[in-house]
Amino acid sequence: MKIGILGGGLTGLTIASQSKNEFEVLEKNSDCGGLCRSLKENGFTFDYGGAHIIYSKDQSSVDFMLKSLKDNWHQGRRDNKIYYKGSFVKYPFENGLSDLPKEDNFECLYHYLKNDYPPPSDFKEWIYFTFGKGIAEKYLLPYNKKVWNTEPEDMSLHWVEGRVPKPPLEDVIKSAIGIPTEGYTHQLNFFYPKEGGIQALIQGLEEKVENKITRNFAVKKISKEKNGWCISDGEGQRKYDLVISTIPVFDLLNALEDIPEEVKTASDRLQYNSLITILLGLEGNSLPSYTAVYFPDEDLKFNRVGFPHIFSPNNVPEGYSSLVVETTAKENDSTWRLSDEELLRHSTQGLVRCGLLDPKKVCFKKVVRSKYAYVIYDKDYLKNIGIVKNYIEKLGIILCGRFAEFEYLNMDACIQRGRNLAEKINSSSKEEELSLVSKKGGNFYEK
Ligand SMILES: Cc1cc2nc3c(=O)[nH]c(=O)nc-3n(C[C@H](O)[C@H](O)[C@H](O)COP(=O)(O)OP(=O)(O)OC[C@H]3O[C@@H](n4cnc5c(N)ncnc54)[C@H](O)[C@@H]3O)c2cc1C
Repeated sequence: MKIGILGGGLTGLTIASQSKNEFEVLEKNSDCGGLCRSLKENGFTFDYGGAHIIYSKDQSSVDFMLKSLKDNWHQGRRDNKIYYKGSFVKYPFENGLSDLPKEDNFECLYHYLKNDYPPPSDFKEWIYFTFGKGIAEKYLLPYNKKVWNTEPEDMSLHWVEGRVPKPPLEDVIKSAIGIPTEGYTHQLNFFYPKEGGIQALIQGLEEKVENKITRNFAVKKISKEKNGWCISDGEGQRKYDLVISTIPVFDLLNALEDIPEEVKTASDRLQYNSLITILLGLEGNSLPSYTAVYFPDEDLKFNRVGFPHIFSPNNVPEGYSSLVVETTAKENDSTWRLSDEELLRHSTQGLVRCGLLDPKKVCFKKVVRSKYAYVIYDKDYLKNIGIVKNYIEKLGIILCGRFAEFEYLNMDACIQRGRNLAEKINSSSKEEELSLVSKKGGNFYEK
């Protein structure tokens, strides 16, 4: 049986690296990696999608990533901050209350303890209910509004549990009176490649399956045939018995014919954010040694700044430093439409104001735009994604990965799902069973 794996990002390559069947990976770009690609220029290394750190509650996914990197990795410890009223507050905010002006600290603690909100039905209500008015209004609401580019009251709740950790009561009290505590402990210690940025992880996987990757093949047409599938990029054709798609679900639907109106409407209603990253290389290093800074201020367009030279000193030439400025935007909104020069000007002014940049030191600058960055869980998300997935599943195409499944998956989840899927296919004793999925559809892949 021959499997076509559409997309050579982390998920596609994970599946490929574990597959015992005959397969081929089709990747539209000249290099694999998707969101996990890194730019190497003038001695600087930047991850296109902002510094990607390796962490997980699932040790086997971490082990998988470190094994793929061989010995090209080291461990770091998070030192993130939140820029609040001109100073840098410990992250997460609820663990940094004693860094706030005293009145603000009091308001956060008082409302956290008083908490008299009714049980929530949307993300905004959940924030009030879980953290109280002080923490909600000073940080969580403005920051989340910026990073999701969406009103928190328009977001559903189904994804929040487990993803936004609830701090223990004693930690918030300790943090308010100045006893150090740590939140989000699962990402406190992280791993990162010593050389080559996060793309080094991709290269480790590529090595295992190199002769089975076809690059510069953008899937444009997918036709179901009597005994399988025919995939075309408009020039060449490929035939497979089974198709696994890790490409964005919109690209997959565009390549299929005769999509029912209901499915088209549901997919048009799925929402996502794009990302603009501004990559800056600096002469010298007068930056604080933070890993990242979060910006809730409404008048700054960017929401997060990361420091690649902290993740690995090899990300910069000796004696230099670097910044990655992240701004979420929706394709064609007023931010997305700004020219690169305008984005650079705005970011530079903002960073100077926050004391993070001396513009005279900038020796490298580049603006990168990623169309698919963050899935938005709006209130109709579950209904719309249900219609879309149900249709694709019935066709017999298996979805796996961040924008293929249209879920907020980090690298560890992509790896987990990719490995589970490959294992399931490998261990399926009946080839017949698999080809039935391909021909008639069905719920082959249960997470
Ligand atoms: C800003 C940001 C920061 C992040 N930071 C972290 C982090 O610190 N830690 C972490 O664990 N995770 C992080 N992530 C998540 C991580 O990037 C993703 O989980 C992971 O890269 C998704 O991999 P994927 O293969 O599913 O999708 P993608 O990376 O999107 O791969 C899809 C692939 O399909 C290809 N493709 C698309 N269309 C076609 C077509 N028509 N034909 C053929 N090929 C096609 C693309 O070129 C791409 O290579 C971050 C994500 C973002 C956006």
